[in-house]
Amino acid sequence: MKHIKFRNSNKYIAINKIICVGRNYAEHAKELGNEIPEKPVIFLKPASAVIFSGEKIIHPHFSSVMHHEVELLILIGSRIKNANESESIKSISGFGVGLDMTLRDIQDELKKKGHPWTIAKCFDTSAVLSDFISADDYKLTGDEELSLSVNGFLRQKEKISMMLFPPVKLVEYISSLMTLEEGDIIFTGTPKGVGQVKTGDIIEAKLDELVSLKTEVTSELFHQSS
Ligand code: MG
Repeated sequence: MKHIKFRNSNKYIAINKIICVGRNYAEHAKELGNEIPEKPVIFLKPASAVIFSGEKIIHPHFSSVMHHEVELLILIGSRIKNANESESIKSISGFGVGLDMTLRDIQDELKKKGHPWTIAKCFDTSAVLSDFISADDYKLTGDEELSLSVNGFLRQKEKISMMLFPPVKLVEYISSLMTLEEGDIIFTGTPKGVGQVKTGDIIEAKLDELVSLKTEVTSELFHQSS
């Protein structure tokens, strides 16, 4: 079982389910030719997809176009169902930054067929996590900025206030669809600027100076033989 770690603390929490939000920034929905949704688009990733800062992303052999998506992460600290606003606020125990790595060629094919995005989103190493900052130590203001660079070049940079559905609204909405429990992680969607990464690329992402991650893309063939 994988555990998330809090910054400046010895506390660990076992990772439960991972709920992801799609199209939560208008400019990103547009860049992929999607409509701006009336309700959050929701999908899941398995905990087996998780790696942490310092570990490598393995490019699957069955795709030729892997994209980076930098996202604010919300950690759930208590069990909630049909939560109201104040219950949703209380249930959030921390924040992090993460990468929702996506096989864009596969996802485009799946979308055309009306199939689920599972194959494009759930591969091993497709969820890269930073350490988390405790909600007791820091309250989000909306002014925080997500950013991502590849080989030192900035690709994504946006304030989290640009989300169509802000963090507390997402928790409320998701809890109306399924029970949320301690150790659940919500990927809150990516801003504009997604793009391809290849073997050897170094990806760095951060939420202001609060939390950060660094990873490298490696090929499946290299990984198997090493
Ligand atoms: Mg995403």
